[in-house]
Amino acid sequence: MSAEQHGFKAEVQQLLDLMIHSVYSNRDVFLRELISNAADALDKARFRSLTEHDLIPAATDNPGVHLSFDPEARTIVLEDDGIGMTREEVIQNLGTIAHSGTKAFVRSATDAQKADLPEFIGQFGIGFYASFMVADKVVVETRSALAEATGVRWTSSGAGTFEVEDIDKSIRGTRITLHLREDAAEYADEDKIREIVREHSNYVSWPVTLGEDRLNSARALWAEQPSQVSEDDANEFYRELSFDFEKPVARVHLSVDSPLQYSALLFVPRRRPYDLFNPEADRGPRLYARRVLIAEHAKELLPDWLRFVKGVVDSADIPLNVSREMVQKTPAVRSMKDAIVKRLLKELGRVADTERVEGEEHAYDVFWESFGVLLKEGYFHDKASYGDRLLPLLRFHTVKHGDAIQSLAAYKAAMSEGQDTVWYLTGSTREQALASPHLEAFRKKGWDVLLLTDSVDEWFIQGLTEYEGLEVKSVSRGELSIDDDEDGEKADLSTLAPWMQGLFEGAVASVRSSNRLTDSAAVLVDEASGVTSNMERILRAANQDVPTARRHLELNVRHPLVKNLATLHARGASDVAEPIARLLLDDAMLLEGSVKDASGIGRRLQALLERAASAAVEGR
Ligand code: ADP
Ligand code: MG
Repeated sequence: MSAEQHGFKAEVQQLLDLMIHSVYSNRDVFLRELISNAADALDKARFRSLTEHDLIPAATDNPGVHLSFDPEARTIVLEDDGIGMTREEVIQNLGTIAHSGTKAFVRSATDAQKADLPEFIGQFGIGFYASFMVADKVVVETRSALAEATGVRWTSSGAGTFEVEDIDKSIRGTRITLHLREDAAEYADEDKIREIVREHSNYVSWPVTLGEDRLNSARALWAEQPSQVSEDDANEFYRELSFDFEKPVARVHLSVDSPLQYSALLFVPRRRPYDLFNPEADRGPRLYARRVLIAEHAKELLPDWLRFVKGVVDSADIPLNVSREMVQKTPAVRSMKDAIVKRLLKELGRVADTERVEGEEHAYDVFWESFGVLLKEGYFHDKASYGDRLLPLLRFHTVKHGDAIQSLAAYKAAMSEGQDTVWYLTGSTREQALASPHLEAFRKKGWDVLLLTDSVDEWFIQGLTEYEGLEVKSVSRGELSIDDDEDGEKADLSTLAPWMQGLFEGAVASVRSSNRLTDSAAVLVDEASGVTSNMERILRAANQDVPTARRHLELNVRHPLVKNLATLHARGASDVAEPIARLLLDDAMLLEGSVKDASGIGRRLQALLERAASAAVEGR
């Protein structure tokens, strides 16, 4: 087939324009990306040749990534003995963007994200295009390891189109020539290349060579004795593996001999990745079998709620000659998974228990902020297996502690006499929860309340009904058995409540007296079981069909407004009592915070109603 011109897909061209026209301070990463692609291709070749016996072998005895450069011609060349690409694969792989999520990102990236592009490209699966940060012409000559394939050359200057033509190439693998831009001439230099490889590709598991020299260590750190691996080495390894420039908050290095033989080197990042909640995102550590890469992302090695963990697992007990899909279902994987989860949770516990240093950020706070929700997700999904291990790792914001998160143990230790329940309140935000009238009686008693404002909380908390012999209960559900030790006059609800209940037929299940309130006149309370109003809100926001939560309107019988309302009703003045009663329900809804500054509006309205009711009483 002769030379053929192809247009780049729109999103690729957008990306290339970003690469070509922006000034990045860290263009060095282009080399890391090309080396990482070459290493992937070598991994794939090694893996596939285990089962596909007609693949052509590597031409040399020491497969790897070979670099060369020519300052006169201003070129850098990378050559690998990897799996190579067929003509169709070249057109597909170097002309489109594979992941839909990445496409969407490229289309909608903000200026700040565009400015950080070199940090993202590796994570996004668009690394090849980083070549155009430094080159104004890129030539890829490749030959697939499939026996029947032919050589092919891909050429592009990154402007709209690329050209593909057949060439003679008998050895398998890929050779990439970068014709450097004038402003990138510095890269055609031995010291520069050495420095970048050592900085960004030291732990690539294949040799990276320049002439006779090997530039990287190519240590398989995970397979070494944990005691032999320094923290710096491990952190470097993490950076190359994850493309994350921040140090991890925790690391687990395991080397196990029986009953299964495996090693694992795993890391907990500091920050949430952008795609943590994208169900399509790749997740799970790399899986090797005796240093042969079996799967880039073995998601069966960790439960979904530990999807933020990065790293490598290598096992001699994974059968090599089965497909990647099958491998992930082997019993060996299941038992490794369990051991790994337990070690990770233990390590997180250790991080949590490290002493606080005044004025310094605590690693566990950082971790909790990024991934705490996922541990709650874990408690909800895997309580039977890991509940006991997860519980001490959970943290909560509470009414009394502002920004400082609390463990359940700390909550329990700080409980005052007479308190025998762990109290919580769910809501959409902390501010909204803190303004809730449901907290009034608890504030008065001096009892702390957990504030649960993550979406997962409504589900999570259903799994946590008891903590070390204490009941765990919502302050906004069911009838509250807090003793009312105050004297003083109370409103008589005996006729008012049934009358109001009649008025609110369908809107509330009942109207009753409350012992939750000190300042507010009324509050809406969820039924002790079933859908809560917060759950209803979350499900509606997710466009799901939900039954309406059953609610009760509770009245503060010591509140002047309620007392006056009862008096008005007793006197038969329904013309005045009815609008006030209705406003009282509106107000209770406002107080829940379903509108902005609802609490403020609610309180102002109550003051107004109180005065109106007093005036009406006096006027009659
Ligand atoms: P990613 O590596 O995340 O898939 P890239 O943009 O870096 O994204 O590379 C795109 C694709 O091009 C790779 O997935 C691979 O299929 C192919 N490719 C790139 N470089 C090589 C190479 N040296 N050998 C074989 N295939 C390659
Ligand atoms: Mg890549």
